[in-house]
Amino acid sequence: MSSAYYLTKAGHKVTIFEQGDMKDGCSYGNAGMIVPSHLVPLAAPGMISKGIRWMFNSSSPFYVKPRLSGDLIKWGYHFYKSATKEHVAKSAPALKDISLLSKAMFKELSGELPFDFGYHERGLMMLYQTKETEHEEKETAALANAHGIEAHILSPEQVQRLEPDVKVSVRGGVYFPGDAHVTPQLFVTQLKKYLKDKGVVIKDQTSVTDFIVENGKVEVVKTAIGEYTFDEVVLATGSWSAPVAAKLNLYLPMQAGKGYSFTLQNVEKNVRIPSIFLEARVAITPMGNTLRFGGTMEITGVDHSISMNRVKGIVDSIPKYYPGMQVNMPKKEDVWHGLRPCSPDGMPYIGKMVNLKNVTIATGHSMMGLSLGPGTGKLVAEIISGEKLSIGIKAFDPERFQ
Ligand SMILES: Cc1cc2nc3c(=O)[nH]c(=O)nc-3n(C[C@H](O)[C@H](O)[C@H](O)COP(=O)(O)OP(=O)(O)OC[C@H]3O[C@@H](n4cnc5c(N)ncnc54)[C@H](O)[C@@H]3O)c2cc1C
Repeated sequence: MSSAYYLTKAGHKVTIFEQGDMKDGCSYGNAGMIVPSHLVPLAAPGMISKGIRWMFNSSSPFYVKPRLSGDLIKWGYHFYKSATKEHVAKSAPALKDISLLSKAMFKELSGELPFDFGYHERGLMMLYQTKETEHEEKETAALANAHGIEAHILSPEQVQRLEPDVKVSVRGGVYFPGDAHVTPQLFVTQLKKYLKDKGVVIKDQTSVTDFIVENGKVEVVKTAIGEYTFDEVVLATGSWSAPVAAKLNLYLPMQAGKGYSFTLQNVEKNVRIPSIFLEARVAITPMGNTLRFGGTMEITGVDHSISMNRVKGIVDSIPKYYPGMQVNMPKKEDVWHGLRPCSPDGMPYIGKMVNLKNVTIATGHSMMGLSLGPGTGKLVAEIISGEKLSIGIKAFDPERFQ
């Protein structure tokens, strides 16, 4: 929808095909954080050993479901090759550029769209309880500061001063004042309505099933309701992208990284600043008088089952960091799940295909797809309009694994 927004603004006529109704996608119930602080991709040193340690714990925040799948084995191989210091050093400037672009776009959107989607600039607090995590997070803060992203190391008292209404129990924290947050379901539902009003054709419950490729371009898009011809095609199918890309002979390694969220209603004394419980990998975001908790990364393939054990892992972490907050287990039907589109190197896929001159890819944003949405949409519109790009996109080359 971000691509549709900027393409429409640039004067293009846009049709969106959506297999569901957009509420089933990953963008609807996530933690809503806009995170220029996140300069380290998922594929980073330490993740492999953590993943192996966590694999045998049914309430752990990170889990790779063992499967005899060629796609998973290849994805795991690329992840393993990418989990290096060199990869982090190379990726950080590119992630910073697209994050800052996207945050600037969100700020602009909050002024120009005729609806409120809960945009706030209150920063992000990364909270830790152990010496090991403190050491890791201080390294992340140093990396951020070195790249010009402001990060402050806080004592437990300084954390508490920023959170006057909720008791916080931590060893310390790192505060990133430049981060922001939104209420994602407000953004998705209202942007959809706005785009329709602006003339974008949105065909819900309509899967894209195949393409006819001729003369080096997509001539026909085949869908569940018929065949269509367009000048340009944007592939933005999230966790479902690998088989769609395969129809275009593009190898786009992707695994769905399932996560859960649930939201407390009518919270009287609410958290003020979005925070992450680092050891538990749980994200906490105040949205009006509600409070959302999100977490877990289960590499399970496209699988919509809900593991209440892992949801319990989220619930159990809450009183450890917020000792005054007792949260009951949510009912299964109140747990939202989303499938993060995870590339193996943690970098999005954005750009035109080399051999198919009318296909642009915009997917693979893993745990940062809400944050990077508007920036990606702006880049897609620039690519298709043949304009100068706002930032370099070499690091996001969709054909880097071909
Ligand atoms: C618990 C949790 C918390 C998160 N918190 C944050 C956060 O705080 N900040 C952040 O930046 N990110 C966060 N994320 C990640 C973020 O939600 C995703 O990166 C982002 O939503 C991906 O957006 P997308 O548009 O690529 O995919 P989606 O939103 O999944 O959209 C892809 C759409 O394509 C449709 N589709 C797929 N195949 C086809 C087809 N063949 N034909 C037609 N339609 C098709 C799908 O139905 C879907 O609606 C979180 C994720 C989770 C699970």
